[in-house]
Amino acid sequence: MLKTLPEYEVLAEQAHGHLCAGQILGLRMALHGVQLLGLEDPAGADRKRLVTFVEIDRCATDAIPIVTGCRLGKRALKFRDFGKVAATFCDLRDQRAVRLVARETAKQRAREMFPEIASKNQQQMCAYRRLPDDELFDTQWVRVAIGPEDLPGYKAPRVICAQCGEGINFKREVMRDGRALCRACAGERYYEPL
Ligand SMILES: [Zn+2]
Ligand SMILES: [Zn+2]
Repeated sequence: MLKTLPEYEVLAEQAHGHLCAGQILGLRMALHGVQLLGLEDPAGADRKRLVTFVEIDRCATDAIPIVTGCRLGKRALKFRDFGKVAATFCDLRDQRAVRLVARETAKQRAREMFPEIASKNQQQMCAYRRLPDDELFDTQWVRVAIGPEDLPGYKAPRVICAQCGEGINFKREVMRDGRALCRACAGERYYEPL
């Protein structure tokens, strides 16, 4: 069952190392997302229904799995590095998805609500607990095509890269001139061997 925001804040603080405005925003975003989808127990009974895409590697992203139960290591959390405080919550059962993005005006609203609080973080924490969902987030219903190889539980044989010899899972190999290559050997390497 869904917990209250204060209950989630305790869990988020433990997981993230501190409580901050980004955590509260992430918790609110995840709560709103699962509620729009009608999921009552995302981390429990409904856990196989949900996949979440996150678009930034910052505080808010750490808070989202606290509510959704979606974790990277379970393949239910997908990271798309768009640098936006945004997330898309996908209900696999009902084939519905909703994308929420933090509104640019949320910080300004926090200043207006709590001008007496000097610390920006404290000011935003107070505001992000209280502002209604539609002042915190823009919401759009979207379609997300998730291939079978991207779903939790997908099973397929591992492929060995014809160049480096490393094993590749989940159909991430790339065919070049009839050879199966890993993405690094196919040109997407983010590191240079020394
Ligand atoms: Zn933080
Ligand atoms: Zn390779």
